[in-house]
Amino acid sequence: MSGIKRSVSTRSSARLTAMISHANPHNPAVTLFELNSSATASESATPDRPAKRVKFSKEEISDEDEPLSELSDDPYTPEPGPSKLTPKDSARSRKTPKKSEGKAPAKAKSPKKPKPIPTALETPHPAPDNWKVVYDKIKEMRSKVTAPVDTMGCDQAQRGETDPRCRRLSTLVSLMLSSQTKDEVTDAAVSQLRTALGGSITVAAIIDAEDSTISGAIGKVGFWRRKTQYIKQTAIQLRDNHDSDVPKTVDELCALPGVGPKMAFLALQRAWNLNHGIGVDVHVHRISNRLGWHKPSTKTPEETRLNLQSWLPKELHADINHLLVGFGQTICAPVRPKCEQCTLSSDGLCPSAQVVKPKVSKSKSKATKMVKNAKIVQKDADKEEVEDADAKPKIEIAFEEEEVKSRVKAVATLGDGVASVDLSSAIKFEEEE
Ligand code: SF4
Repeated sequence: MSGIKRSVSTRSSARLTAMISHANPHNPAVTLFELNSSATASESATPDRPAKRVKFSKEEISDEDEPLSELSDDPYTPEPGPSKLTPKDSARSRKTPKKSEGKAPAKAKSPKKPKPIPTALETPHPAPDNWKVVYDKIKEMRSKVTAPVDTMGCDQAQRGETDPRCRRLSTLVSLMLSSQTKDEVTDAAVSQLRTALGGSITVAAIIDAEDSTISGAIGKVGFWRRKTQYIKQTAIQLRDNHDSDVPKTVDELCALPGVGPKMAFLALQRAWNLNHGIGVDVHVHRISNRLGWHKPSTKTPEETRLNLQSWLPKELHADINHLLVGFGQTICAPVRPKCEQCTLSSDGLCPSAQVVKPKVSKSKSKATKMVKNAKIVQKDADKEEVEDADAKPKIEIAFEEEEVKSRVKAVATLGDGVASVDLSSAIKFEEEE
């Protein structure tokens, strides 16, 4: 309240200072006040309260899909046409000035300025001890199991395509869909997309297709909305800048929306059979760190790639992704790796090997308790039974004794000479039984 009063009085005094006083020409005892027109004009031009600045928190202006690293370097796409800007939108627009605003939405966006992808470390990382022994053991383990990547990896996306361009594009699309998605789901999405596009994944078919057609086919992969946009934008860029074909360099590939170094190196290997570097995904990153191949541990797949490339023989660069992805899918899983099945654990070759203790669930322990209690009860029962066993025959013997006695008595009464039966032996026999 006091604050409000103070502001009112301040405003009143400001108004008073805007008036001119002078003596009444008819009555000198009276002072007249009149408005100072110039001051009023300037005052009316100034608002009573200063305009409030709108502040936005960091969360409001951050990108929702930021965790998707391979897709995160895409510039913010403005909404086409005039629209009412929300505070969030206006903050974004202040942050990233939109050069392309007003352009027709169907036209290709100018490609990102290719950022050169580093190819080597200044100081190479030393090769880890025993790396070859470890590599061969993993290879041996992999030869005994079939992993999802063996039957549904990006190599398989080329199935059903005969045209070399379509085969290469299918591989790239498969890689774009595979981010944050299981191989099974990616594989199904590629097949559905091919069907939705009329039997072949081509640049023209993607450009001509409605967004809803693409989304409907790839709806089960992670971040499908964003990937729909990326596939569409990529197709337009391939048409405009690469003669409707997949480019042959890492930098050109990384300039496509949603394509990062991992996808670029794998696309070159699978689509063009070019070995320019290692495709490091989460499996390669995690397993190589578990094996202690990086000193110190690497924080990003890119650090992992540069380390590995500096010591792993080049002829293995194309294979290590497939090898470790399958190993990660079947044995060295992200959560609860099956170290008990891994020969690196038994041979003491993995510093991260875990001895997994079987988890005793509450119900199990309860059952164990019950079994224990049952044993105790049984023991007690047995004891009682033994005690009873001592007692029972006595009763039975007594009964039998009486019965035999009565029987002998009866026989003796008949007087047929059977009275010579040995009673003690008959009683003994019953006792033994
Ligand atoms: S021992 Fe365990 S952590 Fe190490 S590589 Fe094998 S499965 Fe992975």
